[in-house]
Amino acid sequence: MRHLTKRCRLVVLLGLVSVLALVLVGRWLNATKRGGQEPAEPFRIAGNFYYVGANDVAAFLVTGPEGHVVLDGGYPSTAPMIMASIAKLGLNIKDVKVLLNSEPHPDHGGGLRVLQQASDAQLWASDASADSLASGGDDPDLVLPLRALIWIGVLGYPAARVDHRFKDGDTIRVGPIALTAHITAGHTRGCTSWSFPVRDGDRVLNVVSVCDPGVLATSRYPGQAADRARSLRVLRSLPADIWVTNHAGAWGRYRKFVASAAAKNAVDPFIDPEGYHAYIDAAEAELRSGRMH
Ligand SMILES: [Zn+2]
Repeated sequence: MRHLTKRCRLVVLLGLVSVLALVLVGRWLNATKRGGQEPAEPFRIAGNFYYVGANDVAAFLVTGPEGHVVLDGGYPSTAPMIMASIAKLGLNIKDVKVLLNSEPHPDHGGGLRVLQQASDAQLWASDASADSLASGGDDPDLVLPLRALIWIGVLGYPAARVDHRFKDGDTIRVGPIALTAHITAGHTRGCTSWSFPVRDGDRVLNVVSVCDPGVLATSRYPGQAADRARSLRVLRSLPADIWVTNHAGAWGRYRKFVASAAAKNAVDPFIDPEGYHAYIDAAEAELRSGRMH
């Protein structure tokens, strides 16, 4: 009798695990292959800092006289949209000299290989992100069913060539462009936020690109909560006039873009230190509550 009960439990458990795996695989496949992304208009945020991403997954361009920097590659299928946006701004993809990444999940690392092939730019990544990008999306912190599907080639994305690895606090330069890397681990171990100055007329604005401070149920590791707490402290310490993240809705791209078109100074609607702190406060509340997204 006891034996039977155990068997029943096992069957139910296996059934539940299979259903969960199917749901996750479906979502992941959709995310990896298409991601539901639509093309979006590129636009200047401030000075030499532009939005070149799709309707939701973001990509940014920082331009300079000695070459440009692109932050994030979207999904594999987003990369052509990013290239079209760069061309629309009247710039040449071949002048992109450096590629950077927020975190190596398929929605931000998936298109880097395509961008790299088109530009021959040098890709810089944190140690943990580098390992994942170079393996086409594998990550020891992902749940096993997802990893297994990456290993057999069902999931994942074209592996990028990581040219350089940086440490926390390093600054990546292309001519006068200087972006400082802040490893704000939590969402992934190598999650990188970026801070850099942008000149707008006679003022200098501090930009922070935040790596997603939330966590996914499919990507967990020991010490993750402590990492997230530390990352939020780091983010709080950064001066931010303008802030962005790697999903457009999270930093109010649409709202700010519309306000920008009507504003006397098109840059002003993007200046949002209050929104930056509210975003960090919300991430802190999420961390305390144990919620995942
Ligand atoms: Zn992610």
